Amino acid sequence: MGSRSDIAPPPRARPERGLRLWIVPIGLKQALPWTEALAAQLRSVFGGEVIVAPAPFGLEASFDPQRGQYNALELLERLLALPGSQRLLGIVEVDLFIPMLTYVFGQAQLNGRGAILSSYRLDNTIYGLARDDRLRAARIAKEAIHELGHALGLVHCRDPDCVMHSSLYVEEIDLKSAALCACCRRRLREVPTE
Ligand SMILES: [Zn+2]
Ligand SMILES: [Zn+2]
Repeated sequence: MGSRSDIAPPPRARPERGLRLWIVPIGLKQALPWTEALAAQLRSVFGGEVIVAPAPFGLEASFDPQRGQYNALELLERLLALPGSQRLLGIVEVDLFIPMLTYVFGQAQLNGRGAILSSYRLDNTIYGLARDDRLRAARIAKEAIHELGHALGLVHCRDPDCVMHSSLYVEEIDLKSAALCACCRRRLREVPTE
């Protein structure tokens, strides 16, 4: 925590020039039932405009038959090839990997245009536990905010409560909050959104 100045900081990170963000479900005929709630949550954290716009491409080309998973880097590349100046958050329900890791919850282009997120390992049922839609939604929101934070130039944060704290396991996602710490909020305000 930095020292308090006599002028109270705004309650949320709200970039001067509003963020224009598309949530882009990939490999689905229609948006997932939870995407609108996610859009509202991202709007409240980052400000600006958030809309849901399904991808014009599918998942097939990103499937790795040897691993039985989908290549996050390849998908991210296809996502970033979409025209326009808006930021992009790709969302899939399949398991993602990057070549050096067994799996990833998501992947972002640091200081870039976009990020991708998988809901697959955020679901209790794949760990043999009872289904919990509220917990899943909370995890999805945290990871979406985390990956977008990277895309907006934020790096991993040492504050264990901060959403930018890194999480390798799903339990670690549950331990942190969905909020940016004061430090990360301050840094985010300095990031140009265009
Ligand atoms: Zn991260
Ligand atoms: Zn932080």
